[in-house]
Amino acid sequence: MESITKSEPSKAKSADAPYKVTDDVAGIKTLFVNLFFVGAPGPGNPWVLVDTGFMGFTSSVKDKAAELFGEGTKPQAIVLTHGHADHVGNLESLLKDWDVPVYAHRLELPYLQGKSSYPPPDPAIGGGGMAYMSWIFPIGPTDFGSRLKAVEDGDTIPELPGWKVVFTPGHAPGHISLFRESDRTLLSGDAFVTTNQNEVSAVATQRQEFHGPPAYFTCDWDAARQSVKKLKELKPLAVGSGHGVVVRGSDLTIGLNKLTDKFDELSIPSKDGRYVKQAAVTDESGIVSMPTPISFHVARTVGVGVVLGILLYSFWPKRSED
Ligand SMILES: [Zn+2]
Ligand SMILES: [Zn+2]
Repeated sequence: MESITKSEPSKAKSADAPYKVTDDVAGIKTLFVNLFFVGAPGPGNPWVLVDTGFMGFTSSVKDKAAELFGEGTKPQAIVLTHGHADHVGNLESLLKDWDVPVYAHRLELPYLQGKSSYPPPDPAIGGGGMAYMSWIFPIGPTDFGSRLKAVEDGDTIPELPGWKVVFTPGHAPGHISLFRESDRTLLSGDAFVTTNQNEVSAVATQRQEFHGPPAYFTCDWDAARQSVKKLKELKPLAVGSGHGVVVRGSDLTIGLNKLTDKFDELSIPSKDGRYVKQAAVTDESGIVSMPTPISFHVARTVGVGVVLGILLYSFWPKRSED
């Protein structure tokens, strides 16, 4: 009762609605990235944080946690669908107050424990401004140290009973989704998203649209295609994804069917993308090999030209002033 009188119910409800998956899975959007609080709301109740959102939103995360689980609350654990900068943006600052285990897939650990950078983003994939914006996101490596615990496909994380880890690589080498069989709730991460993350206008309005993973970081398109199929076969009834709004029921079934039928058409903006013909090869220590980007040759030619120009300018005999 107290919370009803304190807050503004209608306003709070409409702001919550697009990111509330079920009664015990609430989400918030940080800029254009979603994260989720899994646990029945109530002071002192146990809960788990799934992803940590875009950097600079630590107090929004803590405020929402306090609203759901009471002041001074902390999660039992943090689970990362993957370690891209827009999903781990508040991890370091949250861990300062919340000394909790952090779970990620074994194949995601090299990028989170300082061993390897991610395969670099691919602006050649096209899809508009977001691809070019991808260059502002750091690709690591970052080191969150020994707090990290590895999970595998099919695992149940002890702090998250009832949920299963679903290995959904492609967008990131060790990407995972989380699925709860009892009510068929899915947290897809970026395996598929419910807005066109490649398009700035769709990102701004969060227009609902089924889409494969955000293209600019996806480093293995065959794996990404298989991962969407794997999630469709789980027949989810509600999904909270890394980008976009919550989708339920027949909208979700129809959307996922269409996405698996026309994955390439709906998800791969350009056949010229660096990872479209050949995937990045990665293993438990990070990048093994990568296809050469087409633009690399252009960049190298331009780079050599610039260096030559500077050298010529520096050594060109200058006319003396005096
Ligand atoms: Zn991502
Ligand atoms: Zn993302």
